[in-house]
Amino acid sequence: MTRYIAAYDTENIDHALEALPPLIHLHRKYEIPATFFVVGRLLEQDGPKYRELLDDPLFDIQTHTYSHQMLKDSRPHGPAVSLEEMEIEVGRGKQLVEDVFEREVIGLRPGCGFENGFTGAPERLEIIRRHGLKYVSADLRGPLDAIPASMKPAYTYEADGYGDIWEIPGHGWHDNVLKGATGHITFFPPIYEFAMPPKNPETVVDIFAQEGRWIEHAVELGLDFVSLVQHPWSLCSFDEKISTIDLLLVRAQQLDMTFTTYTQYYRELAGEA
Ligand SMILES: [Zn+2]
Repeated sequence: MTRYIAAYDTENIDHALEALPPLIHLHRKYEIPATFFVVGRLLEQDGPKYRELLDDPLFDIQTHTYSHQMLKDSRPHGPAVSLEEMEIEVGRGKQLVEDVFEREVIGLRPGCGFENGFTGAPERLEIIRRHGLKYVSADLRGPLDAIPASMKPAYTYEADGYGDIWEIPGHGWHDNVLKGATGHITFFPPIYEFAMPPKNPETVVDIFAQEGRWIEHAVELGLDFVSLVQHPWSLCSFDEKISTIDLLLVRAQQLDMTFTTYTQYYRELAGEA
């Protein structure tokens, strides 16, 4: 049975707080869990507000770095920060989530993501291991760091000497790019037959017509999991009721998918569940 993993990169100071209540409402209504990868700086500014909103066993809270700097070279977004700066991005980012939520953090999603995640970057994986992180979700892009990303399964970084660190990729369009909120190179020809963006999506149905196909395709192929890359700020600025997520969660239930979080899925992969 294909798992649906809802995940939200929470990063934008302007819209993060206003976007969360409708999103949380939907997840509570359907009792579907979600992972929030949260940028540390938001917690520095408004930690108690985030805790009040997200402190629920339904929600898995992990780190989206301290300030969304590039942790590896990215073709569209520029060069990686130094290893010293990465220490802060990883260490302070994790610590802020742990301090605010009083929960252990074991997962990291770096800003933007990279083709093949941290493959070939053992010096970066060393920092990740040293800070006690057990998994990353860094493989969020297609060929040449383009978008969308294919529906890759999870893997470990054994080839780089870090077989204890799991990569759990994110899939599909990054929702902000699909909506045209962020200009970006996209891969052509499409990596799946259906993976063409709707032309100038104007309604939540236009968005669902594309994103819904990704989860249907994952189920048709019997994949282990699918996890679309979504951002509260982008969801909220397109539609303040966040109906895109409503449609996706309903569709996932119709497809008899199971629901889990990144951390719970990691525990299954690592044999801890
Ligand atoms: Zn991000």
